[in-house]
Amino acid sequence: MAVHERVREFYRNELTELQFADLFKDERVIHSPQGADISVEYPADSPLSQVINFCANNYLGLSSHPAVLQAAKKALDDRGFGLSSVRFICGTQDQHKELERKIAKFVGLEDAILYSSCFDANGGVFEALLNEEDALISDELNHASIIDGMRLCKAERHRYKHGDLKDLEHHLKETQNKRFRMIVTDGVFSMDGIVAKLDEICNLADEYDAILMVDDSHATGFVGKTGRGTHEHYDVMGRVDIISTTFGKALGGAAGGCIIGPKALIDILRQRSRPYLFSNTLSPVVVGATIKALDLIDESTALRDKLDDNARYFRRRIKEAGFEIKDGFHPIVPIMLHDAGIVQAMARELYAEGIYVVGFFYPVVPRGTARIRVQISAAHEKHHIDKAIDAFVKVGKKLGVLK
Ligand SMILES: *Cc1c(COP(=O)(O)O)cnc(C)c1O
Repeated sequence: MAVHERVREFYRNELTELQFADLFKDERVIHSPQGADISVEYPADSPLSQVINFCANNYLGLSSHPAVLQAAKKALDDRGFGLSSVRFICGTQDQHKELERKIAKFVGLEDAILYSSCFDANGGVFEALLNEEDALISDELNHASIIDGMRLCKAERHRYKHGDLKDLEHHLKETQNKRFRMIVTDGVFSMDGIVAKLDEICNLADEYDAILMVDDSHATGFVGKTGRGTHEHYDVMGRVDIISTTFGKALGGAAGGCIIGPKALIDILRQRSRPYLFSNTLSPVVVGATIKALDLIDESTALRDKLDDNARYFRRRIKEAGFEIKDGFHPIVPIMLHDAGIVQAMARELYAEGIYVVGFFYPVVPRGTARIRVQISAAHEKHHIDKAIDAFVKVGKKLGVLK
């Protein structure tokens, strides 16, 4: 067989194996803007279903917010569609600098640098700041982009058990001879909606003279009293050295990310960080709309307060209905069903009831912890949530999950 045919056959087999193992990811096609009510084509070529979306990271409902759309259109008219350049050649506009200033001020740090995504931000931060004289100490469940970014960096790599501060301390003790140690953690872990214990992590960082970086992608804009993030929630603003975050979730949801921190570090990233140096500038449209999203959040806590009320309401009602959830306050609510087969059947039946949720099971989460992950949004009204609860109860009874 010629190589071209062998390659195709090899990957066809891989695909079949994924399907066989129920690991194949099938995409549903949305025919409407992102929001609470969406129309979805699934399976392919079937008529559109009107469903309520409970699986977007559209926490504040800004993805299709009228003021954000208007800002995007204005940016398009005033600054064009693309820059056709990287930042350091001719790709920096006034509004890119404005967004950097605003996001830095918003989270309470000195300066910020934009990337095309938070994936790129995490991919480009470690290698530019640390080398073989240093150590990185990372929570084992950190986001894939942190893991990849660490792989590109020459610093000694340590992983501590998820949320285990004793284990973190053990690694801090082991690395005392290093020039710099950097602790890295997600602010919020997306499979569980669980928040890193930043107050205690800050204490350890101080005690062992380490720097701390937090990826607040699932927190910026809505966690903490005024939405500044996990550090606000724990009252440790000013004690986290570096924050990375995305504009692709609560802040309008289009694209882009950034690293925020002390000016000297941000300036070095502008000189050395490869995804910044060798990848195109964020579109003016995205920048203008993201600035608007930040302004809306900075002006009023109404959206994060509504999100908070919605999350509390859903958590209370789903527990009262008899489901097991992971306790917390975050709008990510994992409904623990434990069994992968039940989770898949549940997600399918809920979809038929007009509720779009996603199930997670091994290998995405540990064996025996299969769950439906619900994500609440400020775009939801009470009636959306009530409908979801009714559907969960109906399907739960049908599948024998509820008595
Ligand atoms: C979503 C996410 C990212 C990736 O953000 P993008 O801007 O979509 O690349 C990085 N880190 C964490 C913790 C995330 O949840």
